[in-house]
Amino acid sequence: MKTRMVKCSDVGINNCTHIELGYDLDEVEKKMLTHIETEHKDLLGDMSEQEEHALKHRVSTFLGRSCGCGHLEMP
Ligand SMILES: [Zn+2]
Repeated sequence: MKTRMVKCSDVGINNCTHIELGYDLDEVEKKMLTHIETEHKDLLGDMSEQEEHALKHRVSTFLGRSCGCGHLEMP
């Protein structure tokens, strides 16, 4: 099974070294979004709804969701 990994720096949060790692895409995505929502609350607070959506979308895209599987629409 392929290992799924996403780092905060991968999605544009450069002041954090957090890495989310696992085998289940949904699990890794969920944990990463939870990390962003709890650890980067301030960052999200400074963002517009659109920017916040783009950030979360980057997590999904980075994990390979927009690979053509049709799970998410392309931006
Ligand atoms: Zn982080």
